[in-house]
Amino acid sequence: MSAIHDLIIIGGGAVGIYANQYALKKGMRVLLIEKSDSLGGKLKNLDPRIPLSDVPGADRWTAGQLAETLISQTKKYQPKYVFNERVTGITQKDFIFTINTDKGEHLARSILLTTGRGIFMPKSLAKLSDEEKCKAGILCEIKDDKEVLGKKVVVVGGSQETAGWALQAAAGAKSVLVINWRFIKSYGWLEGNLSVPPNMDILEPYGLLELLGDKKVTGIKVFHVTTGEEKTIDTDIIIMARGYLANLNDLESFGVELKKNGIKVTEDMHTSRPGIFAAGDCVYYPGKERTVEMGSREAATAIDSIEKYLKSVWASFGN
Ligand SMILES: Cc1cc2nc3c(=O)[nH]c(=O)nc-3n(C[C@H](O)[C@H](O)[C@H](O)COP(=O)(O)OP(=O)(O)OC[C@H]3O[C@@H](n4cnc5c(N)ncnc54)[C@H](O)[C@@H]3O)c2cc1C
Repeated sequence: MSAIHDLIIIGGGAVGIYANQYALKKGMRVLLIEKSDSLGGKLKNLDPRIPLSDVPGADRWTAGQLAETLISQTKKYQPKYVFNERVTGITQKDFIFTINTDKGEHLARSILLTTGRGIFMPKSLAKLSDEEKCKAGILCEIKDDKEVLGKKVVVVGGSQETAGWALQAAAGAKSVLVINWRFIKSYGWLEGNLSVPPNMDILEPYGLLELLGDKKVTGIKVFHVTTGEEKTIDTDIIIMARGYLANLNDLESFGVELKKNGIKVTEDMHTSRPGIFAAGDCVYYPGKERTVEMGSREAATAIDSIEKYLKSVWASFGN
């Protein structure tokens, strides 16, 4: 028979790793299940070179450095991980949860969901017509740095992802032009010691009007957001870094109440199912922000609440 864990954490991103560390420190028997083959979640998988802001004590760190530090901090508590298993459902009998995965099942007395926002899909392509999609030279992410090596690159978007892709492209591209409809220059990613690389320019506030070229993108037409003035820009590659669309299928399979594309939680991070808690990017409550700092606070609150919950479960058995 499988061991019954005090707690199973589902998702090994920044918030899951920190929650694991905090729970192990309290002496809980914890198992962390991660569907990919490694820890780190968004911090490592989207682009580990993205510079972070607003992480206390981690000035000038990259996402990858923060992930590695969290992972190595946890090592001394001898964490138990299961990789390459995707949780597909949760059933419950009395006070024991069965966590079903695509490979088997695991048992626990409580659960913490730290699954982030599910699988991320570039949303930019959804906005393009079929004809536009067929044009070569349109990327939604840089899978291989060789794709942009020595090329003229235009990055469209104004989010942190845009910054990540633009900086990544600038490392090898001939030139990078970021086009954004708002004033991106005031964004945190260009503050402090992070400056715009010499081969990068920012054109703002401009919006995307048209992609140019027949079978392959050769340029882009943009318009000034307030004056309407149009500009044509030659380019080899366009990165449509307009953000990502969360796929919430995983969240739906946990049987917990959702609100505004997130898991609805109470102040103590309890979901609508007794014994199942949630923290990090996957949760929603008024005032929620998706940052490592806020997610870590939620993780600590959730673990404190789980400790209380487990005590109440034991008390109900007269232990
Ligand atoms: C470009 C960018 C820049 C950012 N910059 C900053 C910044 O400067 N400062 C800051 O504080 N925050 C920043 N953030 C936000 C920060 O990265 C997130 O808030 C944080 O990483 C969320 O961590 P998480 O553990 O909640 O989720 P995630 O990192 O998404 O981890 C969730 C994990 O759960 C796993 N999982 C999902 N479903 C299942 C399942 N069914 N079974 C098993 N495993 C599952 C996933 O594989 C993943 O590993 C940035 C985000 C982005 C995208």
